[in-house]
Amino acid sequence: CFCKLKGEIDDCSCKVENVDSFNNVKIFPLISSLLEYDYFRYYKVNIFRSCPFGTNSDGKCGSKSCAVDKCKDEHIPPGLKKNHSQNKYSREAQKEHKCDDENELGVIDAHISQKSKDAFQTWKKYDDLVDNFCEPEDEHSEDAVYYDLVRNPERFTGYMGPSAVNVWQLIYDQNCFKPDNEENSAYLPRKQVVVVAELCLEKRVFYRMISGFHTSINVDVTANWLKPATSSWGQPSWGPNVEEFKKRFDPKLTWGEGPQRLKNLYFLYLVELRALSKVAPFLEQEEFYTGKDQDDKEVKKAVHELLKMCKSFPEHFDESKLFQEDKKQLEEFKVHFRNISRIMDCVGCDKCRMWGKIQIRGLGTALKILFSGDSMRPDSTITQNHKKGILPFQLQRGEIVALLNSFGRLSKSIHELEVFRKLMA
Ligand code: FAD
Repeated sequence: CFCKLKGEIDDCSCKVENVDSFNNVKIFPLISSLLEYDYFRYYKVNIFRSCPFGTNSDGKCGSKSCAVDKCKDEHIPPGLKKNHSQNKYSREAQKEHKCDDENELGVIDAHISQKSKDAFQTWKKYDDLVDNFCEPEDEHSEDAVYYDLVRNPERFTGYMGPSAVNVWQLIYDQNCFKPDNEENSAYLPRKQVVVVAELCLEKRVFYRMISGFHTSINVDVTANWLKPATSSWGQPSWGPNVEEFKKRFDPKLTWGEGPQRLKNLYFLYLVELRALSKVAPFLEQEEFYTGKDQDDKEVKKAVHELLKMCKSFPEHFDESKLFQEDKKQLEEFKVHFRNISRIMDCVGCDKCRMWGKIQIRGLGTALKILFSGDSMRPDSTITQNHKKGILPFQLQRGEIVALLNSFGRLSKSIHELEVFRKLMA
């Protein structure tokens, strides 16, 4: 079967088979139960920002399955209502625990002019932005509300046709890199696998991550396809649709590219797995505060278990090979990725948009962990600073929740491939 992938994942020294057994046996059960806890289940986001590329008006999804229900106030855990959006390693949180010396500065602070304070705030905002790979989320806007991710799972919604294709086209055409001498779009005119092979490592990595994200969505959609009710009073149900899966990934129906697209899912999984292992020392100290004592303790324990497992994987993605020759490339990489995070506001189906935003923010957080400051170097400050308990960049609760949920989606997609293999055997 074409979905029984074998061999090395390109640009990683790791085999598909090893990821399959590691994920399906060890990671998937752990992450699935972790994501049911309140800390990871309730996510605040504004899904009604306007599309900066002006293309979302022509394809709003009218289907009931595209809708998402915002969370009722009584369901939101008390600790989250108080807006604990920062984790304790953020600059804000560290400011709250100022040492005496710093309090002394308060006296000096009183003498600093308002103009200097404003300038400081502008720089601080700029500082935070510099590390980010995504357009910042406006969690404080009135339209930002909590959604229950467990009650609004990603699955088939009926969002397809020109609107969906346009969004994917916008992502690949405008924001994935093309070979330097390529004037035409890298999207459809030539086989993507051929085009991608001509790119440098950093650009290939970028393309593989986006294609892996696309694969993950389409595997989930085909694994959770809407099955019509068998009678007029029956409830609809969701389950795997082998024909739709084949249409998207069978090499005979995809210019031979299906298996490579599936491999890109594994590639993206390895990128996020590496980020989780790298940030583990900090997440192990996090309180995961929701105001529900017993829950918070259990979450801490479950996160520890998951991170221990992530760290035990022997063939991690090696981010230190990237951006060695040209540091400007990292900035270019960020600009392209930020554009993709803005394109998520153009998705014409509320549920798809919500999940698209979470997954891209999760991936952006992974990239921030892998490539911020000096953290890419083998003797990285992230390790040195760990001893001092300082994270060299800011991480907000929303970013942690998005990272774990996005990794959870990838883990689930890899698990779902196993289901398709069995069905097609
Ligand atoms: P599409 O998936 O729309 O693909 C368009 C073109 O991209 C293809 O013709 C192919 O050439 C190329 N392509 C396809 N896959 C890859 C890949 N992995 N790598 C590189 N190129 C590729 N639908 C739902 O039902 N539920 C959802 O939750 C959902 N979420 C979405 C989230 C986002 C951000 C977007 C943009 C779309 C979402 N969709 C969702 C729609 C879904 O992804 C498909 O667009 C839709 O099912 C139609 O699929 P398709 O086979 O016609 O081609």
